[in-house]
Amino acid sequence: MGLLSLGTPLDWHQSKQHNEHVRENGIIQLINIFSQHLARDNDRFLWGDEVEYMLVDVDSQHKTARLNIEQDAILDDFNDPDKPGPYGKALDNNIVFHPEYGRFMIEATPRRPFDGTSLEDYIYVEQNMRSRRTVAQLELPEHVVPLTLTAFPRMGCGIFTQPPAKPIGPASQSLFLPDEVINRHVRFPTLTANIRKRRGAKVAINLPIYPDVDTKLMDALVVAAARRDLFASDAEPYLGAAKPGHVYMDLMGFGMGLLCLQVTMQPRNIAEATVLYDVLAPLTPVLLALTAAAPVFKGYLVDQDVRWNVISGAVDDRTFVERNAEPFRGYDLFGGLAVLDELKDHVNSLGGGRGVNGDHEINDNGDTSMVTLDGKPIQKIPKSRYDSIDAYLNEHGVPYNDIRLPINTKVEAQLSEPAVRSMFPEPLRRHFAHLFIRDPLVLFSERIDQDNSTENDHFENIQLTNWQTLRFKPPAPCPTPGTDLASTPGWRVEVRPMEIQLTDFENAAYLVFVVLLSRALLKYNVNFYIPISHIDENMATAHAVDAALDHKFWFRAPAKWGINHGEFRGYDLTWFDRFINDGNDLPDQDNGVYLNGHPSNGPAADHDDSEVKLSCDELVNGSKHSAGLLRLVVKYIATDLVPEKYKNSAHHCGSDAIAKELETLQAYLLLVSLRAAGKIPTTARYLRDYVMLHPKYQRDSVVSDEINYDLVQRAIAITNGKRNKDFFGDVLGGFLDRRGL
Ligand code: ADP
Ligand code: MG
Ligand code: MG
Ligand code: MG
Repeated sequence: MGLLSLGTPLDWHQSKQHNEHVRENGIIQLINIFSQHLARDNDRFLWGDEVEYMLVDVDSQHKTARLNIEQDAILDDFNDPDKPGPYGKALDNNIVFHPEYGRFMIEATPRRPFDGTSLEDYIYVEQNMRSRRTVAQLELPEHVVPLTLTAFPRMGCGIFTQPPAKPIGPASQSLFLPDEVINRHVRFPTLTANIRKRRGAKVAINLPIYPDVDTKLMDALVVAAARRDLFASDAEPYLGAAKPGHVYMDLMGFGMGLLCLQVTMQPRNIAEATVLYDVLAPLTPVLLALTAAAPVFKGYLVDQDVRWNVISGAVDDRTFVERNAEPFRGYDLFGGLAVLDELKDHVNSLGGGRGVNGDHEINDNGDTSMVTLDGKPIQKIPKSRYDSIDAYLNEHGVPYNDIRLPINTKVEAQLSEPAVRSMFPEPLRRHFAHLFIRDPLVLFSERIDQDNSTENDHFENIQLTNWQTLRFKPPAPCPTPGTDLASTPGWRVEVRPMEIQLTDFENAAYLVFVVLLSRALLKYNVNFYIPISHIDENMATAHAVDAALDHKFWFRAPAKWGINHGEFRGYDLTWFDRFINDGNDLPDQDNGVYLNGHPSNGPAADHDDSEVKLSCDELVNGSKHSAGLLRLVVKYIATDLVPEKYKNSAHHCGSDAIAKELETLQAYLLLVSLRAAGKIPTTARYLRDYVMLHPKYQRDSVVSDEINYDLVQRAIAITNGKRNKDFFGDVLGGFLDRRGL
């Protein structure tokens, strides 16, 4: 979760006076980091994941499943050396537990990152994940279970916490979520309130309700809340914030209370980090679709499968004017921004901001007479702070940066000054100038003045509240002279779109797939560039029900990937069987690989288009004209990951231990392959079917307390490996049954 300074957090109206100070000093800190780390090279390829858990309180007597909001102290225990039991267990198991937004959430990561060149570490990650669950469970009562379910189905429906709490909190003003779901650390309620105050209204997320035969038009909880008169904002759903036919959600917690799976990787240097960032960008929507796991929100089946737009909306602090939206009657076009009274008067004379976006007073480039009191141009901003990326980072990507990129021109000027210009190539300059259009959301009074040569809190303040599908992570400043920089984290890329899966097996599988694919894409120098606007279109597609199965995604035509597809022939998943089990095939004398299994013929020659629409199946599993992503990974494993000494003269595996590890890798890749081919359901499809086939389901899209309880029980059974064949199909389920947990 990043920085958790202790101290006094400032309310938005105090904190906004320091916005420019934070940005200016944040950029100086960034420049110092670049000066210190730009030249580092040949960093080891390290990687590490983050898994988030919700603590679900299961009462089998009353048949309820609720979010537990009173066990969060276990986090302190894990991180407090004076509590030797829990602290020692986390330490011994190479785990770190982190706080998250929700009081019912915990996050866990490996303490030491994994080594991307070591086959063993790709196997160890799952074991490390299992320890995280076991160690957490040891500190929890038996009936409180750390569950990796993307969205708690009944979050926001009446009583859904243990202990019960009422939605009457001043930080959130939510009609549905009590403030008690928010982490106790002052940062989090402040963050929540400041988003609302900056925006000038509560956040509003509307998800289409899945239309079943008896589905009602209105979200019943919105109708029920109509009587409440506690905060002025209570009227918002009826002023236009809530849409008919949609589930309406009004708080940061609805998004930040969702769980995701992230992975951070460290390529060899900054240049390679920008290459990796770019090549992964077009894959982000596909990763979202393949991991889809969220078909139920606030007690309703919804007409989409993933969490992304919920979080995006949940932290959307843009004012009406920035969103290019009409303010609600009586609301301020400029939200919580400080602007000159004359400007407000001018807008009022134009009708209070209604329609003001239509005149050319406020243009798209920030090049406008409208500025905040501290001189920052007010501009239209197309996306939330939590959204898909807006631009590529490597210069080769520049021609594909086709969407409007609002930037902070002052920051761009700061990064263009002669003394620093050469460190920041144009795409990087624009990247940071873009991130720095945002205001800091939480500032601690004790941390306003910092030593820019040794600290980076101001930079990270903006950086860590830009939650995009990918994050380019610069190193931290290294204050001790003489430190070997290679021993400190370097230039990293974080992959953030994936939804969390129920089992450690699946989470490990997707991570291993992403990391090995990254290794392969770098090694084979693959070109995946397509216009950013098409990635955005794919992001929308990835939200659809069964997107992985029924929808196609823009992708660079395989003929233009810059590889010879023929060189990947033979590297389908059966490569593992041939390598592990001696003597069932013949070596191909030409290139030393085994050609049994599906052929993947030479390069595509069927069209000249530079872009095509591909299904997940075609992209992942390949086709007549394309190696597909999996063959890139398998070839990389075969040629680079299996240690030379274990390849005997006939290119077979010379070690039982390695053979076992390879079987596990094969199973990971098989999971991705089967999900991409639609041969086994995504988690979202499985859960959707579970609800729709539940005997108590009324065909009204409502997921009742009773269904919720059964669904949670089913999720726990899957997590514990008790439904392998049902959930994973016969082949993979059979493998998992044989292997055990
Ligand atoms: P954040 O929440 O800011 O993304 P976390 O600390 O929660 O950060 O997670 C970062 C992940 O990166 C962890 O899994 C950690 O093990 C891993 N990691 C740490 N150092 C490196 C490194 N040098 N290279 C790659 N990954 C790293
Ligand atoms: Mg997290
Ligand atoms: Mg984290
Ligand atoms: Mg992260």
